Amino acid sequence: MMQAVTRIILNALALLFVVSVLMPLPLVAKDKRLVDLIVEADYLITMQADEPPLEKTAVVIDNSKIIAIGETKSIHQKFHARQIISGKNRVLMPGLINTHTHTAMTLFRGMADDMELMPWLNQFIFPMEGKFVDPEFIKIGSKLACYEMIKGGITSFVDMYFYPDIIAQQTIDCGLRGMIGAPMIDYPSPGFSGWDDSFAAAKLFVKKWQGKHPRIIPAFAPHAPYTVSSVHIKQVADAARAMHAPVTIHIAETSSEEQMIQQQYHTSPVQLMQQQGLFDHNKVIAAHMVHPNPTDIQILAKQKVGVAHNPTSNLKLAAGIAPVPAMLNQGIAVGLGTDGAASNNDLDLWEEIRLAALIHKNQQKDPKLIPAYSALKMATKMGAKVIGLEKQVGQIKVGMQADLIQIDLGSLRLQPIYNLYSHLVYVTDSSDVSTTIVAGKVLMLDGKVLTIDVAQLKQQVAKKSKQIKQALLQQNLSHKKSLDKNTTDKK
Ligand SMILES: [Zn+2]
Repeated sequence: MMQAVTRIILNALALLFVVSVLMPLPLVAKDKRLVDLIVEADYLITMQADEPPLEKTAVVIDNSKIIAIGETKSIHQKFHARQIISGKNRVLMPGLINTHTHTAMTLFRGMADDMELMPWLNQFIFPMEGKFVDPEFIKIGSKLACYEMIKGGITSFVDMYFYPDIIAQQTIDCGLRGMIGAPMIDYPSPGFSGWDDSFAAAKLFVKKWQGKHPRIIPAFAPHAPYTVSSVHIKQVADAARAMHAPVTIHIAETSSEEQMIQQQYHTSPVQLMQQQGLFDHNKVIAAHMVHPNPTDIQILAKQKVGVAHNPTSNLKLAAGIAPVPAMLNQGIAVGLGTDGAASNNDLDLWEEIRLAALIHKNQQKDPKLIPAYSALKMATKMGAKVIGLEKQVGQIKVGMQADLIQIDLGSLRLQPIYNLYSHLVYVTDSSDVSTTIVAGKVLMLDGKVLTIDVAQLKQQVAKKSKQIKQALLQQNLSHKKSLDKNTTDKK
């Protein structure tokens, strides 16, 4: 009798095991939606508003977009992902937006420093560009820039440099999102004899790349008001309007530019651009904007011109300090840029965030200016507005593109933590970024870049820089001779 009872109990237990262990699994899995990726976060900063970070949250990504955001446990109950990235000790936030750079100039990093703009350009940059800038240089230089940007958590960038087709292809291959500007200038430049052929090539470039790839936005990139005549600026303004393409250009970078334009056209660089119709129904990203006058600021606000603030480059070339608080007060969208690595000398946007939060306080003797959240906003949500992608990137929001980064808070160097916004602006640097995701694709995981053959790139950079180093010795000699000559002449 006892044996029969035991057998019944055992059978019942076995049945219960089958029902409870084996049966429920497929039932639950069937209820869950299969998605590409779930990224967890101990702290989530959405940049939707200045509010405390969300804790123990996860972001669900499918088909390049963010499809859900919620408490980690409940997300795992609803979704089943092909890949899960842990958020232990990590902040998840929107990827950074570099609104102004010249990617391939990474190969000229540290080539010539501590000089004034004109001798720096005429004695080093222009001659070395003439000698070295070719498709191979651009391929290696822009790949090196992509590597550096992925490492530092930049997910979108605005570029202006030679051979933009190659830069666009490198951007696609490494997985980043790029607004790639076709360069135009009135003088001979790599690949061009002057204005006409550079303008014609730019129109072809824009036409070729419009709608071709979801992560590439082709743009017109006339160099600056002092290197492109007003007649040519009008041609760009008309072409960009007709082709619905953005324009990126350096404007009001130095006081010498201001003087040159005043002498030649009897107006300011901003008003000259306005008179040529550049801002009329065009998306314009104006890099630097260090010297706008109060009327210029009104024009920029009215015509919704986006500004790329490049504090490191401006400080290094002693160009001045852009009136960022005044521009923000007028409702102008101001983003942050690294400029090229020849005038920075890196592509670390965290440095620009920190400088943007510091230099305006000191200049105007007001520590309340550009608080931490505002500086971070310039690098994310407002940067997206500057480049016209505010509906796609710059925030963590359902329906937007999944361009996200994780910051590792595990290092003792970052402890203790009381306020995350303060920490991200005043403590964090690019080496704290552990994960970079663009359009739902993981480009870097646990600090390892997955889309670039790093060993091969190292070799390519070493080979190219060896050639540049040899030419630089000659250039340094001729620069020294010109300095000696100047000193002798003055005697
Ligand atoms: Zn620049």
